[in-house]
Amino acid sequence: MSFKALLLDIEGTVCPIAFVKDVLFPFFSSKVSVLLQSNDPEVKRLLAQFPAQDNLQEYIQDLVARDVKDPILKQLQGHVWAQGYYNGEIKAPVYKDAIELIKRKPEVYIYSSGSVKAQKLLFGHVEDPSSTKSIDLQPFIKSFFDINTSGKKTEPESYQKILQNIGKQPDDVLFISDNILELDAASQVGLETILAVRPGNPPVTDIKNYSILEDYSTL
Ligand SMILES: [Mg+2]
Repeated sequence: MSFKALLLDIEGTVCPIAFVKDVLFPFFSSKVSVLLQSNDPEVKRLLAQFPAQDNLQEYIQDLVARDVKDPILKQLQGHVWAQGYYNGEIKAPVYKDAIELIKRKPEVYIYSSGSVKAQKLLFGHVEDPSSTKSIDLQPFIKSFFDINTSGKKTEPESYQKILQNIGKQPDDVLFISDNILELDAASQVGLETILAVRPGNPPVTDIKNYSILEDYSTL
């Protein structure tokens, strides 16, 4: 395989799927009462837009529990997570071999459904098992893409857009993801593809013709 650039998914590919569900969501829930006392004008502005002003705490916790894609909730979560990353309470558990891969390869791009802002926070605050400090992987990543910049990850046109954006031919780029539908879309455009198989990912029943990668040190 003679790829020049790597395009990487995040969840289930470079870090555990459980990070969002088991770390980020509970972290936000634990900060709701603090959030309600906040003097930050942006937080106040966002909170004022919720309909249930008498019972905000319960209202917000209910949105979280039901995983409602509420745009105001998303912005509040983004705010709380940013604070958590900045003060060291949250660190992103990027797999050790994925950290090495990102540092080693000359052209690495990220494409995730999570916003570019959230992606930069994540890669800017990566857990370092050998230190209490975190690792900033942002300097090793050439560009970040999300649904707003490039479209849905299951649509071939999205990968076309990314290719145009980075100025590469399809077979110059290797896309790694844990999601077969995303690999289908990328391979329709002609990208090289590999299925990431990592601990904690749901089993893939129909692997089709995709190659599997369990250890990035072999790449
Ligand atoms: Mg994924």
